[in-house]
Amino acid sequence: MVVRYNNFIGGKWVNSVSGKNFENVNPATREVLHLFPRSEGKDVKGAVDAATEAFKSWRLVPAPKRAEILFQAAALLTERKEEFAKEMTLEMGKILKETMGDIQEAIDFTFYAAGEGRRMLGDTTPSELPNKFAMSVRMPIGVMAAITPWNFPMAIPSWKIIPALVAGNTIIFKPSQYTPKSAYNLVKVLEKAGLPPGVINLVFGAGSEVGDPILEDRRVAAITFTGSNPVGTSIAERAPKTNKRISLELGGKNAIIILEDADLDLAIDHIIWSAFGTSGQRCTAASRIIVQKPLLKDLTERIVERAKSLRLGNGLEPKTEMGPVINSEQLRKIHQYTGVGKGEGATLLCGGEIAKNGELAKGYFYKPTVFGDVKPNMRIAQEEIFGPTTAIIPVNSLEEAIEVNNSTEFGLSTGIFTEDVNNAFIAMRDIYTGIIYINAGTIGAEVHLPFGGTRGTGNGHRAAGQTLLDECTEWKSIFVDYSGKLQKAQAID
Ligand code: NAP
Ligand code: MG
Repeated sequence: MVVRYNNFIGGKWVNSVSGKNFENVNPATREVLHLFPRSEGKDVKGAVDAATEAFKSWRLVPAPKRAEILFQAAALLTERKEEFAKEMTLEMGKILKETMGDIQEAIDFTFYAAGEGRRMLGDTTPSELPNKFAMSVRMPIGVMAAITPWNFPMAIPSWKIIPALVAGNTIIFKPSQYTPKSAYNLVKVLEKAGLPPGVINLVFGAGSEVGDPILEDRRVAAITFTGSNPVGTSIAERAPKTNKRISLELGGKNAIIILEDADLDLAIDHIIWSAFGTSGQRCTAASRIIVQKPLLKDLTERIVERAKSLRLGNGLEPKTEMGPVINSEQLRKIHQYTGVGKGEGATLLCGGEIAKNGELAKGYFYKPTVFGDVKPNMRIAQEEIFGPTTAIIPVNSLEEAIEVNNSTEFGLSTGIFTEDVNNAFIAMRDIYTGIIYINAGTIGAEVHLPFGGTRGTGNGHRAAGQTLLDECTEWKSIFVDYSGKLQKAQAID
């Protein structure tokens, strides 16, 4: 039986005002798993009403007490990790090991971020005047909206929601319509851990139907968004009209650079994992392999051999190495890019087809696809495909490799393989992305380091790491004058 779930508003699980639903579908089988409310403006209004009211008292709860609830949530997630991972694989397709990792990241991050309850450090500094004390403290912004994609259904929401909560904000959470059950599981855990009513509000629904009312409501003070560039850009254009702060984590076109002195065995393992893990649907996926010419032939042959041998299938099967892509729209888009690559004169070395043999025909599966003879300015080397497609780009030197790496509109993650420490340090200095891996692929973030990218990958924010409070707090400077007389700063008499 297909179960129907509700929104969570003001501490109650309630239907959408319209009563309309949408289906949560398994991309490996196209089976309908659950129904969720298709919310609209009235639902958002109810959520913002609740979050606005709850903010009045939540901001006054001592931060270590707020953190205790979040530590409890992390413990509950740990208990239910496997169950939640299975449900995540069912609704978005990535293999069970990866969905277990997704939830582990949420657990690690929640423990890490909740620790801010006993830090949230401010500054004290001398005043220029006698008998005057000066300090700056972080304060919550107010009601925040978290709008999230489907590819990390629990990790990314946790990166946005947990720091905001420990800092004293209240939340409207709009998850992707492709992963509602994982969002439900996370919010259910936060409820069980003891968050007061209205502190987190979950509004299910489709992009603009929920997104537009969030953008239009002046009471929503900030939006933390992770997703595609077109949607992020549209939020960036509209948010200032209602004075919202925004932080944007957007797309990627990440590269792995292979220099001629690289350990090729190691590099191949990393390339396969970075290009085809999560079916290439990671913001950090390696969709470009930039290789110095002496290694080109050997590397190409080995990538193609490994890509062809990857086992596609249902992510719940232990043997499966690569699951489906998220939906029919994405399958079509990935296949269109295969046509674009061929049309531009790149050589299709393997894949390039929708996988239709046996059980695969039931779902949205695409064969791991590798292009050779790719020029840096081709569309397949510039645009985010977000699927299991990677492009091999030959270069002559480290300098050229770095230039090619830096030549896209995105700047999230780069991996470089070299045994030469001098080359490694030049790469660390000159590669202009937010994340660099030396002798590792483009994926594998750790929660206690800042995460984000340069240029079109965002608007300068970094999630997680020591920067985790920046998007959800603002600074208040406080002066205490205990001189008992009128003192004027800047020596004005
Ligand atoms: P998306 O289509 O941009 O959607 C992201 C979220 O925005 C979803 O919840 C979506 O809702 C919502 N949305 C859509 N239209 C909206 C509107 N007009 N107003 C407000 N919200 C709206 O992205 P996606 O397909 O879910 O995720 C893939 C993208 O995310 C890729 O570009 C990837 O690189 C990026 N990503 C970036 C990072 C990073 O940290 N830099 C991490 C992961 C993913 P619905 O989809 O439910 O309609
Ligand atoms: Mg989308």
